[in-house]
Order: sequence, then structure tokens, then C-alpha cells
Amino acid sequence: MGGTSVKYALVDNEGAFHAQGRLPSHADVSADAIISQLRRAVEEMKNAADALGVKAEGVGVGTPGIVDVTGRIVLGGAENLAGWEDLALADRMESFADLPVRLGNDANMMGLGEMAFGAGKGCTDIVFITVGTGIGGAVLIGGKLFGGYANRGTELGHVPLIADGERCACGSVGCLEHYASASALVRRFCERAEKAGVSFPSDEVNGEFIVRLYKANNALAVESLDEHCDFLGHGIAGFINIFSPQLVVVGGGLSESGDFYIGKVSERAFRYAIPDCAANTRIVAAALGNRAGCLGAASLFLR
Ligand SMILES: [Zn+2]
Repeated sequence: MGGTSVKYALVDNEGAFHAQGRLPSHADVSADAIISQLRRAVEEMKNAADALGVKAEGVGVGTPGIVDVTGRIVLGGAENLAGWEDLALADRMESFADLPVRLGNDANMMGLGEMAFGAGKGCTDIVFITVGTGIGGAVLIGGKLFGGYANRGTELGHVPLIADGERCACGSVGCLEHYASASALVRRFCERAEKAGVSFPSDEVNGEFIVRLYKANNALAVESLDEHCDFLGHGIAGFINIFSPQLVVVGGGLSESGDFYIGKVSERAFRYAIPDCAANTRIVAAALGNRAGCLGAASLFLR
């Protein structure tokens, strides 16, 4: 689930989808409004299971924000969802789902999905980052999610990148997310365009648009995308130096824009990482797209 929509699926042990859907999340209304959408999603998938003659074993949920160590309570940190803090979401959902419910952070679930069924299949030590409106991440060590003490860590988008930098949505300044997300790419591209006195239709400028201009050798797009890859490369180099993973899996829309993108990001990351730390690390694009979250959430019940 996210700020725009709730995407859901009925998933089997092999990771196949047997039914799926999408509802608006009503994120700006209230926690109750969001939960009523989750209820509709659960009921729809239970009906789909009935129609197939199978019994669902549980409901896995990937939610924005920090989930407590029991996997039952959203502690906070989901600025784009109204009332989404100190929320006993698993209890609330079990009251209508009539199934056990387990929660995980959304990016953690995507990372878990990529390890179980996607780009990270066969690997045990993975750093996953998703680059979109923000930057989320997951750290998998020995095949398990690492969450820090009491599961309050691995906010990979909020490692400080620029000392005394611009303010970040998390309340700090200079975070990786604020400089290297897809939104940051768009923001900084638009700032450059304005300075250069060039105007683009603002509703058209997104990551894809900038990649198209980049490929057409537009100077503003080249400068902006080079900078984006450099920022992201710095962040990934830090993760490589700390965790020395087998794989860094990069998800989000930009990672789907072609091999050139992962190539550029990798070139920067390996330039800044310590070679001995990076000796066993490959950097690859995520493979599951927006199915990763559902698969990871389902895998809370598969392992
Ligand atoms: Zn931040």
C-alpha cells in the first residue's frame, strides 16, 4: 500500500498471482478511510480464494512507515498517510479479515520479494533500494531482513549525503532521498531549466521525460541525470562499504528505463566504494516491478 493506491493480490507458494486488484488508498482522508479500503481489498481476495476453492493462510501487508518488532503496529514515519502512527493495524485488520495479519515496511517487503522471487533469487546478502517519489530500502543479511534494534532502522533514503543541505521530508537536512530520488531529479532539472530560461510543460516533466531528453543529448537533461547518478552512486557506495552485499538491487521507475541507467549508477558507485568491500558486489535492476511488494508481503507467510 502507498500514498496513492492499495495494490493487492492472491499469491501462492510459488509466487504466482491468482487474482489482483488496485484501489485508491484515500491516504489524505484518515486512518479509518485507509483501513476501509484495506478491508475491501481483503474481502475481494478472500472471495477470489473461495471461487478457486482454496483457503488463504494469512494477509501480509507492506505499509509506508516504521513497523514495530512484532510486525503488528505502525509506529510512524509515514508522512503521506493521514493518522498512520501508533496504529495497531494488524489487530484492526484481523478483526475483519478472520485471518492472521503480518505487517512490514513497504520497501522492506519489496526487498524481500526481490530476494525470494526476483533479481535477488539465490542470494542471501542484498541491499535493495527503490528510487521513486522518495527512496526506500531493505537490507537482507543471511537471507533475513535486517531492521536494526527493535526494527527501527534501515531508512536507507535518509542517510545524510550533503552536510548543511536542503531540508528533507524526514525533518533532517541533506538526505540521500532529497537529492537522489526521482522527484529530486525532476526538481533539480526544473531548477536548471528555469535558470536557463527554458520552459517545459510542467505536467509532462517526470523521470521518463528527462531520460528521453537525455538520450536526445539535451544538455540540461544530461547534466541533471549525471548528477542524479552521482548522488545515488555515493549512497550506494556507502551501503557497499557497510554491508558488502552480493547484490545491490535498484527498483523504481528509473531502473526500468534501460541498462544504461544501471550502468551509469554502477560506474559511480564502484568509483566511490572501497574496492575490497565491493569485490563481490553486483548492481542490478529490480525484476518484479510493482509485483515486488505483494510478493514480499505474501512471503511473510511462505517462509
Ligand atoms: Zn531525510
